[in-house]
Amino acid sequence: MGNFRIPVIVLLLALLISGIDLWQERPRLSLPLPPDGRDRSVGAIHVHSIYSDGGGTIQDIRDAARRAGLDFVIITDHSTIQPFLNGKQGYAESVLVLIGEEVNTSAGHLLALGVDRHVHQRGPTGLQAVIDTIRAAGGLGIAAHPDGRRPWLDWSVARLQGLEILNADSEWRNDDLFELVRALVWYSVFPDASFNSLMDRPEAVLRRWDALSRQGRVVGIGSVDAHARLPLWGNRFLPFPSYERLFRLLRTYVITSRPLTGSATTDRATILDALRAGHCYIAVDGYERASRFTFEAMNGGTTAGMGDSLAYRPGSRLRIRAGSSGRVLIRLVRDGVTVAETIADEMDYPVTATGVYRAEVYQLRRRLPLWRETPRPWVFSNPIWVTHGFPLSRE
Ligand SMILES: [Zn+2]
Ligand SMILES: [Zn+2]
Repeated sequence: MGNFRIPVIVLLLALLISGIDLWQERPRLSLPLPPDGRDRSVGAIHVHSIYSDGGGTIQDIRDAARRAGLDFVIITDHSTIQPFLNGKQGYAESVLVLIGEEVNTSAGHLLALGVDRHVHQRGPTGLQAVIDTIRAAGGLGIAAHPDGRRPWLDWSVARLQGLEILNADSEWRNDDLFELVRALVWYSVFPDASFNSLMDRPEAVLRRWDALSRQGRVVGIGSVDAHARLPLWGNRFLPFPSYERLFRLLRTYVITSRPLTGSATTDRATILDALRAGHCYIAVDGYERASRFTFEAMNGGTTAGMGDSLAYRPGSRLRIRAGSSGRVLIRLVRDGVTVAETIADEMDYPVTATGVYRAEVYQLRRRLPLWRETPRPWVFSNPIWVTHGFPLSRE
């Protein structure tokens, strides 16, 4: 008995310390902020149902979306738009359910949003044709989990419209064993903190995105890639992580040109138009709701938002507002290089050079071993192009 006492005490102590550390990843209550005159809708993109390899029905997904407080959810089953053909697109109470599909291509998985018919790649050289078909149909083609288990392989392809910057299903796979065990051990006590702790800055994807953005607009989105299906044995599975858990964790906010109306046809167009134009940002809302984030560029009388371009003039400025109730770090990136950083809720930056600007916001949380404030990824904006007066080359 005595032989076991010391190892057990050490183990319990290690467990306790890891719990104290993990507790720092807990959600922050967002303060009710006054309206700022912008129309935002928040949604979860890239969800699998029983129509492919997901664990839940469309009904399960829209109930989870409603409980999580989403305005829209985009379901993208593998190689099928059957839910659309079965009339599942439209409003279910307050949640707009949109049906897209996840297309298997020779370069990897491609989300096709807003097409309303099945598309697939014909033959080994048909990749460009799929991308062009989606685009010609008024849809949006987005490379899924570009740095995940099944990465995107062909960057020479033209007119790719978007990129998943954060993919919740890829995120936990790059964590080390300690982080995974800690999250698992504490999940029942701190479920939000456990999931937050697995999110990391997606270094490689951001580098790729910055390079692509210099040639034109490639919209960045956050994707849940939710399956709610952890395979066990035979046909058995656990509905884990649940749809609701992921819908609370990682969301895409779109800034729309008008408020949603409650008409599915109108609102579908409003949301897809905003996404296509890059009027959106990605947030790890598991930390805090990023519902008051703004990033804008101004030159005298003109204001440009995310996804847009602004002609450079002396006196041009960029303004970032995090909208957090706690301490955050704002980072401004130009052409892939950090040009300014501040620990504050706002950054006002005088523009001195043209380029592709985007913002990152980090929640500051004290973490072991030194209990220092550590930046944890919270918001990634889409870029603003400050140009010499030329419009975007790609759109
Ligand atoms: Zn996939
Ligand atoms: Zn998927």
